[in-house]
Amino acid sequence: MNLYSTLTRSVEPFETLYPDRVSLFVCGPTVYDYSHLGHARTYVVFDVLAKYLRSTGKEVFYLQNITDVDDKVIDRSVREQVSQAYLSRMFEREYLNDMQSLGIDAVSYYARATTHIPEIINQIERLVRKGVAYGTETGVYFDIDTFERNGELSGQKRDNRVSRVKDTTKHNPEDFALWKIGEYGEYTWDSPWGRGRPGWHIEDTAISEKYFGQQYDIHGGGLDLIFPHHEAEIAQMESLEGKHPMVRYWLHTGYLTVEGEKMSKSLGNFVTIRDALKRWSKDVLRYYILLSHYRSPLQATDEGLANAEKALEHIRAVAIKDNGVSIEGRKAFVDAMNADLNTPMALAAIQSLAAEGDLTALVEYGKILGINFLRENSVPLTILQEIRAELRARKQFELADLIREKMVGSGITITDPPL
Ligand SMILES: [Zn+2]
Repeated sequence: MNLYSTLTRSVEPFETLYPDRVSLFVCGPTVYDYSHLGHARTYVVFDVLAKYLRSTGKEVFYLQNITDVDDKVIDRSVREQVSQAYLSRMFEREYLNDMQSLGIDAVSYYARATTHIPEIINQIERLVRKGVAYGTETGVYFDIDTFERNGELSGQKRDNRVSRVKDTTKHNPEDFALWKIGEYGEYTWDSPWGRGRPGWHIEDTAISEKYFGQQYDIHGGGLDLIFPHHEAEIAQMESLEGKHPMVRYWLHTGYLTVEGEKMSKSLGNFVTIRDALKRWSKDVLRYYILLSHYRSPLQATDEGLANAEKALEHIRAVAIKDNGVSIEGRKAFVDAMNADLNTPMALAAIQSLAAEGDLTALVEYGKILGINFLRENSVPLTILQEIRAELRARKQFELADLIREKMVGSGITITDPPL
């Protein structure tokens, strides 16, 4: 398989650190509001990637963090006069519900920031001991001047950067917070530098180091996270013991756009996943998302979704009769997935497989893409076919023939591949 890495800006053969094992980390949600279709896109893409890699026999540990300590969580909990735990757990539940409704179930483990505070403090302590972080009266900051490879991922020139928060205690305006000193309600913890709470970037590296170590295979997330978030993650992790690269394959999903603008909460132009699911099925939403390559911008339009629905209905209408294996169709699908997860090409292969009547492939690949390509009543047929194939493999021909007779009797033609 080949994957494009933002780090090298090129498509490279995918080689894992350990044979047949893949460590995949994707930035999870900040749980202070409902998730929107832009999030759906990112998480559908990585769900498909994990499922595809597993289908090739690899063991995939897919880790996602849950950011439950954050300015936005604090602000909203104050506004709504509820505890931070109440608010963040509620939106975490909503997020997990949305993911389930979208058929996203490839994540191996969700790790909350608030349950990893000792790991976070420990990592900051090591960075301070290394001399790459320093404490002031307002917090602990990463000293960006100590990290030579800074900017490697984003390609951004340091001069262009503007820090959002002005803090005169920092050595350099671009230094970012690892620990923020202060009282932040219930989510405030004791630390060697005073009571406070962690910065955002350190949550991810403390969690990924705990489960993967300082190097792992794939880090994913939306395009908007490259700078400063992912850049900061690299600076933190690679400064611990100098292991480089922290991650070889940085995969970033393109924006979901509305009339040319990125779908986002701050622009107010978003459609929540729960609202989208009231109009469109999970299969249509996934089909629509996968019709574009994950790195391209994707326009959110009713017309686009309606077209996706039509295309999916067409596949279902065509894929009725099982004609056995289509070698070319299967190769086209696998080649597409191997080419930097080219799902639009893979969906074209699905259309051929439907036209050629390779129903078994449609079921198998449908599981990878998380889309049901067969009409509801066609599914038991393919299950029967699978059972028959298994019986034939076990040389239990009598039973296999009996099932065939019954199928033929109900008007279904089947051709068995030679044994
Ligand atoms: Zn993150």
